[in-house]
Amino acid sequence: MYSAHLSKNYINVNHNLKIGVNIVEKGFDPIELSKTVKRIVVKGYGKNQRRKYFRFRGGRWYGGIATGDCVGCNLRCVFCWGWYARDNADKLGRFYTAEQVYYKLIRIIRKHGYNKVRVSGGEPTLSRDHLIQLLELFSDEGILFILETNGILIGYDETYARDLAKYDNVHVRVSIKGATPEEFSMLTLAKPRAFELQLKALQNLIKYNVSCHPAIMVSFSSKESLEYLARRLVEIDRRLIAEIEEEYVLLYPHVVKKLREYGIKPKIAFKPDGTIIKCR
Ligand code: SF4
Repeated sequence: MYSAHLSKNYINVNHNLKIGVNIVEKGFDPIELSKTVKRIVVKGYGKNQRRKYFRFRGGRWYGGIATGDCVGCNLRCVFCWGWYARDNADKLGRFYTAEQVYYKLIRIIRKHGYNKVRVSGGEPTLSRDHLIQLLELFSDEGILFILETNGILIGYDETYARDLAKYDNVHVRVSIKGATPEEFSMLTLAKPRAFELQLKALQNLIKYNVSCHPAIMVSFSSKESLEYLARRLVEIDRRLIAEIEEEYVLLYPHVVKKLREYGIKPKIAFKPDGTIIKCR
């Protein structure tokens, strides 16, 4: 009964985002959505906290990395390659403890000779205890943990950055969606003001000396909006400018369909075969 109720809430959130023009314009609160999604994809607390995952794999990113794909996110990016798992969080995946995830990933690391690991697919920070426990498990192995995050929860609560600072094997890649609050809202369907949480995440991480860099989805940005973001990053820390990683949308068929659905056109994008498309 309880889980059925939660699933219904979750489906309503997605449904409203898809069909309600006013709601799309207004945007949702990603902190509230974090709480809703967390009830579906996270169980328990502390060392035994379990998170839903749908896949474990090796891959060529970062020169070779073991990846656990988790289920669930607190944004609704229109270009998300993992949208199916994201929007079906109540149906897909299985719950794993951090220790179980560790053993799955360490097997992949040893098989391929990797020295890096990450959690991808969804938003790893939704399961804070589980994530910290994973960092703890990998900290003695000399394995670099690349935390790919949209930064919303680290920006919302600076104690998250303080906790990450306890581990010197973590590097945080804050994936910023668009270059202005308006672009952020257009791309993620969240409230424009939540854009600030992504920048605050970088600020909090730098405050606690956590290794980090900004990755920016630039496919939809104008020159002016990129200049705006550059100014905002300089205000946080001048060094961030040199560390920007540009992200471009990959035009998988389902992404093309979603972009059409929302009437959004990228200025620069890549086809899955690597061909560049410019629409400026
Ligand atoms: S933050 Fe990442 S996982 Fe979440 S919706 Fe956006 S692209 Fe998908």
